[in-house]
Amino acid sequence: MTFIVASIVERSVSGVSRSSKKAFSLGADLVEVRLDLMEIDRIDTDFMARIRMAVKGPAIATLRSYKEGGASRLTKAARRKALKAILRAGFEYIDLELESDADLLKEIKKTRTRPEIIASSHFTRPVKAREAETRLRRACKAGDIGKVAMPCEDAGQALMLSAISMKFSMNGERFTLIGMGEQGRMTRVCVRQMGSSMVYCCMPGKPAAPGQLDLRTQLSLYRRDKVVLGLIGHPVSHSVSQPMQEAALARSGLIGAYLHLDVPPKNLDREILERFRSLGFKGLNVTIPHKKNVHSLCDRLGPSALATGAVNTVRFEASRIYGENTDVIGLTRMIEGKIRISPDDSALIVGAGGAARSAAYVLSHLGADVTVAARSLKKAKDVASMVDGHALPLPLEGKCHSYDIVVNCTPMGTKSSGGRIPIPARVFKKGTILFDLVYNPPMTKSMKIAISREAKAVNGLDMLVHQGAQSFRIWTSKEPDVRAMSRAAKGALR
Ligand code: NAP
Repeated sequence: MTFIVASIVERSVSGVSRSSKKAFSLGADLVEVRLDLMEIDRIDTDFMARIRMAVKGPAIATLRSYKEGGASRLTKAARRKALKAILRAGFEYIDLELESDADLLKEIKKTRTRPEIIASSHFTRPVKAREAETRLRRACKAGDIGKVAMPCEDAGQALMLSAISMKFSMNGERFTLIGMGEQGRMTRVCVRQMGSSMVYCCMPGKPAAPGQLDLRTQLSLYRRDKVVLGLIGHPVSHSVSQPMQEAALARSGLIGAYLHLDVPPKNLDREILERFRSLGFKGLNVTIPHKKNVHSLCDRLGPSALATGAVNTVRFEASRIYGENTDVIGLTRMIEGKIRISPDDSALIVGAGGAARSAAYVLSHLGADVTVAARSLKKAKDVASMVDGHALPLPLEGKCHSYDIVVNCTPMGTKSSGGRIPIPARVFKKGTILFDLVYNPPMTKSMKIAISREAKAVNGLDMLVHQGAQSFRIWTSKEPDVRAMSRAAKGALR
């Protein structure tokens, strides 16, 4: 059983009273009063009595020190005095810090009439598993409940915390191990599987820590039948798949979450996929640069994955991993909606990764004569050979003519990419159509160049929506509201 704890971030006693009342009415098991974030002159017995009276339910009193990420800058002696006042106020729980409050922790652990002690510790940077585990063990020993928080920079670090949690849970420990920030959010969404004793969340718009979910979301995600999905890639921050897929979940009446999971290439292996499965993930989308590698990690492949050698959608089945490539249907829908391809149309595909494989497959099936250009001629040849196409090395300057269709299958043009655009202006002529798979920003540099040469230009948003809709069908066997997905994706780009 995990207690859902609503952190109360309010400046005044009346604010604490209002917010805690609301938290309990919504279904919080406990509230945490963040005393360090309140506007108060002195924490003494009188003040603590007022606070305790204001909270009509079980509560944790927390006076987070500046050193541990809070706002309290009291001296050692003043902190000790304040904590003594808090101890007398009749709270069910008190948060004491493993380092700052070491003496007090020892002193009161043996007392009989005292609140339950949450012994807490906060890393300021990600640490290795051994260090996180040792710290949690110390915290569990020092208090009744051990609490450790660590910022997560990638999904592997959050998975590491989840694995430690599962181990502590199996040993019957009372603890909470939290991943901070967007990459740590998994430790909040999957808290049931992790077996934590508590999960902290916030009142709307008032987070007490980075990555906290709001109370309603946290409560709904505690359900056993929630649908947890995600996007693995590196980088993933530019993606708008999260609002798009969460809109599809909501419109289908499903409770769930879609997480952007940064997985650096060196970390991608079968074990990491299995860890997502053990946390209850139903499936994943796969993006740059993992599509080809994930293809080799699946047990069973769908027809488009078999045809292209790339996987962008994973479904976790009872004991197997199923992989399919929904970029193929996404691209087909996007192209069919815009042009009719004739057999002598020439198509240039720039890039030789997972998306390029889909583009080569789709365009050649629609009848175009395909040329693949990539930084590595070997990779370009590899993709071109799938469809009896031609291969060229990048850069193309001086080596190329114009094409009827151009598809950018590189990340160049993405908001964060910077650098030189690999598509020279000369490939565009009047009537050429450019499909830039990049959609963030909606108007890329390549699109501007194409338009200036009287070519047409389309970004990758339509494709994103259609590939996402097909992934959703694979995960849930439900028909998604494609319009709502499109609206959500466009809204996120604004
Ligand atoms: P991928 O498998 O990692 O392939 C990326 C390709 O881009 C590789 O061929 C890579 O070459 C090339 N590349 C990277 N940086 C380059 C540069 N500076 N100059 C020239 N080539 C460069 O990734 P992917 O999954 O195919 O995705 C490619 C792009 O399409 C991403 O931006 C992705 O977000 C987008 N995409 C959009 C949709 C959509 O629905 N709109 C769907 C799929 C993909 P090397 O092999 O030499 O590194």
